[in-house]
Amino acid sequence: MTTKRIVVIPGDGIGPEITAAARPILTAAANKSGLDLEFVTCLAGGAAIDKYGEPLPQETLVAAKAADAVLLGAVGGPKWDGVAPEIRPEKALLGIRKALGLYANLRPVKVSAALTAYSPLKPEIVTGTDILIVRELTGGMYFGPKCESETIEGTERAWDTEVYSVPEVARIVRVACRAAKGRRGKITSVDKANVLASSRLWRRVATATAREEGLDIGHLYVDNCAMQLVLSPKSFDVVVTGNLFGDILSDEAAVITGSIGLLPSASLGDGTGLYEPIHGSAPDIAGQGIANPVGTILSAAMLLRHSLGAEEAAAAIEQAVEAVLAAGHRTADLYRPGMTKVSTEEMTKLILKKLQ
Ligand code: NAD
Repeated sequence: MTTKRIVVIPGDGIGPEITAAARPILTAAANKSGLDLEFVTCLAGGAAIDKYGEPLPQETLVAAKAADAVLLGAVGGPKWDGVAPEIRPEKALLGIRKALGLYANLRPVKVSAALTAYSPLKPEIVTGTDILIVRELTGGMYFGPKCESETIEGTERAWDTEVYSVPEVARIVRVACRAAKGRRGKITSVDKANVLASSRLWRRVATATAREEGLDIGHLYVDNCAMQLVLSPKSFDVVVTGNLFGDILSDEAAVITGSIGLLPSASLGDGTGLYEPIHGSAPDIAGQGIANPVGTILSAAMLLRHSLGAEEAAAAIEQAVEAVLAAGHRTADLYRPGMTKVSTEEMTKLILKKLQ
């Protein structure tokens, strides 16, 4: 068997519980695909501040860079609210994304057949929704030139700048096109080309890149996309967009599912990829054994798909999760009368059993 090295960063709050849940499932699925996994546990976030006085120790960075993939729980919590801004737990996330050059953030939004009732949208609108949002993660307004405060003719103002270059747009659209080829082949680029110059470049490069990849690409203005996501979420397959629009649209799309505890994400660059659930460290329920591990388990499935090329193992995890949810098993966050309430550990065992 080929051995792959996975760095696990449990982080804070429920992070250690949900990463511990994902590990045996990741191992079992990988083994079935002829892969052996070696796990290296590293600290980041509050746990690292407690031990080393900094949120992202050098040894975590070195291990992450050398790994085949990184699985992260979540970082942060009230315990570290008072620390100096330059060592806040969230700095670990930005630091690791930067160090690994993670320019593509992939957020699947799939409404499980068993969970349509949890969506704030009507079942007939939401049933069958299966979207992949591909967000550019290292450019755009979040990283463009900015001014916190300047005074012009006696009036204070502040500004940010949206900047995108041709290579930045081309590489993210290429990621989206490749993902679309493994799905339904439909790709929608989102911009504000009626107003923004950077969006007009985005649209031109997106069209040309998709053509090179052999795909037609559709275009939507961001305001229309925000509306279509709630009016007709089923009409989307892959959505590709810049950093700012992607930040907002991916959260809008996430609430369509009705539970943040279920949603995974992947952040990819040209080297090691990073996989984490979209939720935070949930300090209000940490240590109680009731956290929903599904977002992390589905992140592990993405790790198998995107970093280890083990599509079958990834799909097997996704099917096992779907089967356990369809059988009515729910962690406390999704429990309703008539369902079977299970702990983090019980949920993990049920998914593992389906997988085997
Ligand atoms: P959160 O996502 O941690 O929690 C929001 C609500 O959802 C809470 O009631 C929580 O109990 C619940 N929840 C979240 N995940 C759950 C799960 N897997 N199972 C069951 N319930 C779940 O968001 P928050 O409360 O705004 O933030 C808490 C801490 O997490 C903060 O310190 C924040 O900075 C940090 N955070 C970290 C990340 C990350 O590491 N990527 C992301 C967001 C927030």
